[in-house]
Amino acid sequence: MAYSSALGTSIDPADISIPAGLLPHDGRFGSGPSKVRAEQLDALVALNPGYLGTSHRQSPVKKHVAHLRSGLRELFALPDGYEVILGNGGSTAFWDAATFGLIEQSAQFASFGEFGAKFASAASAAPHLGPQTVRKSEPGSAAYFETQTGIDAYCSPHNETSTGVAISPTRVPNSGDALILIDATSAAAALPVDLSQVDAYYFGPQKAFGADGGLWVALMSPAALERIARINASGRWTPASLQH
Ligand SMILES: *Cc1c(COP(=O)(O)O)cnc(C)c1O
Repeated sequence: MAYSSALGTSIDPADISIPAGLLPHDGRFGSGPSKVRAEQLDALVALNPGYLGTSHRQSPVKKHVAHLRSGLRELFALPDGYEVILGNGGSTAFWDAATFGLIEQSAQFASFGEFGAKFASAASAAPHLGPQTVRKSEPGSAAYFETQTGIDAYCSPHNETSTGVAISPTRVPNSGDALILIDATSAAAALPVDLSQVDAYYFGPQKAFGADGGLWVALMSPAALERIARINASGRWTPASLQH
């Protein structure tokens, strides 16, 4: 297929080649997993005698988790009552945790690329939930929330990694006590956010934080914590690994 350039000439994309000097040194794409620097690995190795290989239930690791939680609390200037929650399995595991512990019955998903669609399909497949709503838009644009009765959680990526489209998370007018759940995996620490507008701001550390993948972190509002406690107390069956 031929495209017209601004100069009016016709260009076949197959004829475009990126000059070797502009190619990345490795194959990572813009907001995808970031490079883990050799200095980071050296720092990890230096921790070895007292840290790696000790039980993750013992104090060296517990202290490290506490350090991480207080650092994130400070970095994001968490509003009163918000908590830093973390778990293993990356943002993908957070979607499962939210499907059991945060969505009461029906959520509305803004889906405008690969990642927003994934959470929507995890919740849509859950037999214990009611019908889910997905608001789609073409890749390259953003789908926004729309007030809808019966919705108890509104879910969107902050930055849709697959297209680079970012939104400004804000509460949905007249949405009662519905929660706002924002996937910030490729946005956290890179885009501004007003956390008072969000109930769960969650991410893996492998993108803007320049760390390795495999963790999820969620900055949660009192309303989100209260929702988790309420669903837990309601007797909904939840896998033991997702109970706290
Ligand atoms: C990379 C990415 C994910 C997947 O994160 P994992 O930690 O690998 O599960 C989810 N959402 C967004 C927006 C991402 O960019």
